[in-house]
Amino acid sequence: MPSHRTIVYMSNRWGIPAEVEKVVRQRDTKCVYCGVEFSAEKNSRRNKSSWEHMVNDIRLNEVDNIALCCMSCNASKGSKLIKDWLLSSYCIEKGITPATVAQVVKNIISKPCLVLK
Ligand SMILES: [Zn+2]
Repeated sequence: MPSHRTIVYMSNRWGIPAEVEKVVRQRDTKCVYCGVEFSAEKNSRRNKSSWEHMVNDIRLNEVDNIALCCMSCNASKGSKLIKDWLLSSYCIEKGITPATVAQVVKNIISKPCLVLK
């Protein structure tokens, strides 16, 4: 079980602490799953980044669980476990495997205590 820490500093409207948001935005310039580069154009829905809790637990608001992924990966993954989602037809069609995802995702996958919850 994760520790039940209370986050007291400012968080954005997704509940992600500002410090975490800053680090993640600098780290994830591409979708952590499919690797598509995010569009800089504000009004473009294509390649728009969205906030992702890789382990679907909103208490895990740390840089190792928060990532940016594209809208289509986010919509496909929904609340599935990463390991299950990687076996979905979406990932198979896009060629997304545990070997192709960003390092931050690999780190999460390598922590079975988190992924298997
Ligand atoms: Zn993606």
